[in-house]
Amino acid sequence: MEMERRSPDVLILGGGLMGLAIAWELAEQGARVQVLGRNLQEAAGRAAAGMLAPEAEGLPPGPFLELALASRQMYGNWVAKLEALTGESVDYWPCGILKPVCGNSPVEDMGPGQSLRPEVEILQPGLGPGVVAAHWYPQDGQVDNRRLVAALDQGCRLRGVALQTGEAHRLVVEDDRVVAVETSAGRMEADQIVLTAGAWCRTLLNIPVFPRKGQMLALRPPQGVSGLGRVVFGRAYLVPRRDGRLVIGATSEDVGFTPGLTPAGLGYLLQEAQWLYPALADWTVEECWWGYRPTTPDELPILGPSPYENLVLATGHYRNGVLLAPITAQLIAEGLVRRRPHPQLAAFRWNRFSAPAP
Ligand SMILES: Cc1cc2nc3c(=O)[nH]c(=O)nc-3n(C[C@H](O)[C@H](O)[C@H](O)COP(=O)(O)OP(=O)(O)OC[C@H]3O[C@@H](n4cnc5c(N)ncnc54)[C@H](O)[C@@H]3O)c2cc1C
Repeated sequence: MEMERRSPDVLILGGGLMGLAIAWELAEQGARVQVLGRNLQEAAGRAAAGMLAPEAEGLPPGPFLELALASRQMYGNWVAKLEALTGESVDYWPCGILKPVCGNSPVEDMGPGQSLRPEVEILQPGLGPGVVAAHWYPQDGQVDNRRLVAALDQGCRLRGVALQTGEAHRLVVEDDRVVAVETSAGRMEADQIVLTAGAWCRTLLNIPVFPRKGQMLALRPPQGVSGLGRVVFGRAYLVPRRDGRLVIGATSEDVGFTPGLTPAGLGYLLQEAQWLYPALADWTVEECWWGYRPTTPDELPILGPSPYENLVLATGHYRNGVLLAPITAQLIAEGLVRRRPHPQLAAFRWNRFSAPAP
């Protein structure tokens, strides 16, 4: 019995960032894990900018900020372990984030971490003349989320996780248990099941998770021109990768799963990016793409137990899923192995949205 507790039989539905991160963590602890994923290319984990920005995001004090700060703290060791296993770099870069204040904002109200224009110029030369000051968050940073997803996929394979391409169609429920999952690859059964289908969770379970679309693009500077040395987080954000590529994001659109890029979306990003850093006006547009953030009514994740005894939820990470991957994986895996939800997840329970009893 004890042996079985240490090696749960876990099926993970959705092989994006959370699915892979949780699978890897479980496999590291010796669990037998299977992941069913429809399409890694559509995952928000690939579409994201990769900022690790609990401070620049201005998260209010409370359990969510605590979770986010703890995850940022874990990042260096987490990726080092993954890189050592896979031999692949994920370009984790604690480069700090500058959050500009524009000309018409009240500079005197800036609070801690503020820098006025001359200091901003030292931290990041070349910002537009409208940037009169900035908040500086030296502990925030970034990771190359595409490399991260690829490395997690590789790490899972190396640790014996069964990665299967396919789509979950329906949960088969008896009493309060999910006894099977009907999928494009046939009927699957597992002792414990984790739902990590991102913005698409609602097709399998009636929880309030919906997509919020983000358009993105990447520029390449001319040869010999060095890129930015920090993330710059304005109305658009500029995320410089170590190879010089500049990732620019993102729109935030309530358009369901409407696919594609729009002139309005890309136009907005390019206009805001040039306002922040005028020199990029002549750089080459290398790529444009979009993705769907898994969002909830209060914009906080849904983590831990579900209406069903053997179904665990890890979704709704909205715009901070890359940041939250290490702590989500750790706390969800711990709950599965111990068969008891981690107390730190109580604030993120699935049924917090129900109206309070009169
Ligand atoms: C444009 C954009 C920018 C972002 N920028 C940042 C950022 O800078 N920093 C940050 O921390 N976060 C950022 N995020 C948020 C972050 O990417 C997400 O919160 C995170 O990726 C969510 O991970 P997930 O695994 O829940 O979902 P996903 O990564 O979307 O993975 C879900 C997976 O489930 C699969 N799936 C869906 N339905 C089924 C089914 N029925 N059966 C099988 N598989 C299924 C999908 O194919 C997909 O691969 C950004 C997101 C977007 C879209």
